[in-house]
Amino acid sequence: MTSDTVTLASGHKMPLVGFGLWKVPAEKAADTVYHAIKTGYRLFDGAYDYQNEKEAGEGIRRAISEGLVRREDIFVTTKLWNNYHQRDHALAMAKAQNEAWGLGYIDLYLIHFPIALKYIEPEKLRYPAWWMDPEQKVIERANVPIQETWQALEEVVDQRIVKSIGISNAQAQTLYDIQTYCRYPISSLQIEHHPYLVQQDLVELAQEEKIVITAYSSFGPQSFLELPAAFRERAKDTPLLFDVDVVKKAAARSNKTPAQVLLRWATQRNIAVIPKSNHVERLKQNLEVGGGSFDLTEEEMRAISALDRGLRFNDPGFYLHKPLRIFA
Ligand code: NAD
Repeated sequence: MTSDTVTLASGHKMPLVGFGLWKVPAEKAADTVYHAIKTGYRLFDGAYDYQNEKEAGEGIRRAISEGLVRREDIFVTTKLWNNYHQRDHALAMAKAQNEAWGLGYIDLYLIHFPIALKYIEPEKLRYPAWWMDPEQKVIERANVPIQETWQALEEVVDQRIVKSIGISNAQAQTLYDIQTYCRYPISSLQIEHHPYLVQQDLVELAQEEKIVITAYSSFGPQSFLELPAAFRERAKDTPLLFDVDVVKKAAARSNKTPAQVLLRWATQRNIAVIPKSNHVERLKQNLEVGGGSFDLTEEEMRAISALDRGLRFNDPGFYLHKPLRIFA
């Protein structure tokens, strides 16, 4: 089964539903990705930070070699980590990441966070990446403007290493700024987006500017409960979105699971989703939320959006010992 697609500003199409690779252990990534392809997933969301790109690429290559899919049926997103924003580093990382995936090209390459940090040799960066290191020793900013990084990504497009480019965890000012000098459009903005963090203005801005939003952590607190204490702090006493009344009611009415309702709440507004699951049945249900799957009523959509608390779980301005207040 294939999911619906959205058209990026670059003109390339991206599936509306994909599979997120954060916290998928490297040793399981090849099998996980291969089975996800068998289940019907075509979009994979990776990052240098997740430290499983090579293995995820192996899973895709296995599926291609067995004739399950062709390269052009698959859409790979990956991201440039914060320590590599300087032009030469960004160019080298894009090349190395593309080689790690081993698929000829990357479909969408994102700046992971709009903050430049001091260079760390790639070999020294381990998963969980340094800002999940309990000691958090090295959090030093680097003097690299986003313009330099964006223009490096454009060079990577010129080199045909990547097809489309975008940014994650950015807000309005950064998007407007990039638009003043970009040669290639911002194809996608990947943001934390769930009913506790709706960011309606940012969503509207992106949609006005034809920037496709990809929502991450669609289940809100759930994902953060698996992390070390500082990262869990905001999630641990927050009611799970799966248990919230309006979500449960919409699930019962549509004969779907609360997880599917949370995903459909995004896809129904043309926002792509990239849930992660290692569980076969969930993997399957998470995929069945594209266009034509089922619809929430306008009232259900409004009631779910009204759960907004401006509650951000992935906030380095909160969980880092030396805060990086990028959302201030
Ligand atoms: P998620 O919202 O996909 O939640 C994952 C959690 O939900 C896991 O605990 C999983 O077991 C559980 N789950 C999955 N399907 C379920 C279902 N049907 N029913 C009940 N529970 C279910 O969280 P995420 O991993 O934070 O986000 C998804 C992806 O987004 C990541 O894998 C990654 O690719 C991307 N991401 C990007 C950034 C960024 O900074 N750009 C940050 C976080 C995540």
